[in-house]
Amino acid sequence: MHAMVLEAAGTPLKPVTRDTPAPGPGEVLVKVAACGVCRTDLHIVDGDLSEAKLPIIPGHEIVGHVHAVGAGVDRFAAGERVGIPWLGHTCGRCDYCRTDRENLCDAPGFTGYQIDGGYADYALADARFCFSLPADYSDAEAAPLLCAGLIGHRALKMAGEGTHLGIYGFGAAAHIVAQVARHQARKVYAFTRPGDIAAQDFALGLGAVWAGGSDEPAPLELDAAIIFAPVGALVPAALRAIRKGGIVVCGGIHMTDIPAFPYDILWGERSVRSVANLTRRDAVEFLALAPAVPVKVRVETFPLSDANTALARLRDGRLTGAAVLLPDRA
Ligand SMILES: [Zn+2]
Ligand SMILES: [Zn+2]
Repeated sequence: MHAMVLEAAGTPLKPVTRDTPAPGPGEVLVKVAACGVCRTDLHIVDGDLSEAKLPIIPGHEIVGHVHAVGAGVDRFAAGERVGIPWLGHTCGRCDYCRTDRENLCDAPGFTGYQIDGGYADYALADARFCFSLPADYSDAEAAPLLCAGLIGHRALKMAGEGTHLGIYGFGAAAHIVAQVARHQARKVYAFTRPGDIAAQDFALGLGAVWAGGSDEPAPLELDAAIIFAPVGALVPAALRAIRKGGIVVCGGIHMTDIPAFPYDILWGERSVRSVANLTRRDAVEFLALAPAVPVKVRVETFPLSDANTALARLRDGRLTGAAVLLPDRA
């Protein structure tokens, strides 16, 4: 099999050829058809996240077809299309796993972080953490649903029921969340990098009622805000934009330090919280919701061998929608 491998943080991914693994008990071997490029991959490659198994094959928005199943797998048959998300393994025994909060498991395994992921033409996965995918989406379109979509869905649930929703950072997750929020009759206010007119136009095209730079004040008091950009300074900015009782949800796995801020912008029962990982229930819910909205996924595709280019474009904010890797033609 071919793969793009991270050997050390801060270095480019390297192309490698390895023997294709065989699935062990409970595992499926999936022939990868598409793999999304998530900002978390960038944080792993850049070394912002320090718990990667190295060398690691990144990628946790994997769409593919079951090539072989290990002993005891009856959820999927050969040929079936499945998705493999970030949550690749949980212990099943810790307090979090036993109380329906497997996203917070004390001994998890994450795809593309501790478990080799989808920047490859084959991937192994624990069948219990794989999902059937809605037929409405092509392989490339389905890939971003598996993290941008799932985490966005979880973040939107945490933002509460309010009508006026701010979204800071208008990339892959935001472009999906905005469509779901609009479907729920909410109004979306999109905050982008100052001067990023392309991202603002993209947000308005997806139904945002307002779009502007993150240095601009919101046009009215927001009920809640979700921050997808990895910029800690947006936390006090979002707190200043929300009304009393409002919620700021931090949707990323890594953020730069949050600057000190006066207590009075938190006062009034405002709250700040993070979203961590996903549960399998989030996946089942969202993969049913997406085609019902219906969420339209905008992707830019790259050949697997150009994974470093896709990551560079994401780092520089030069993507509209979600980047997706497709296997190189043989
Ligand atoms: Zn656990
Ligand atoms: Zn992700």
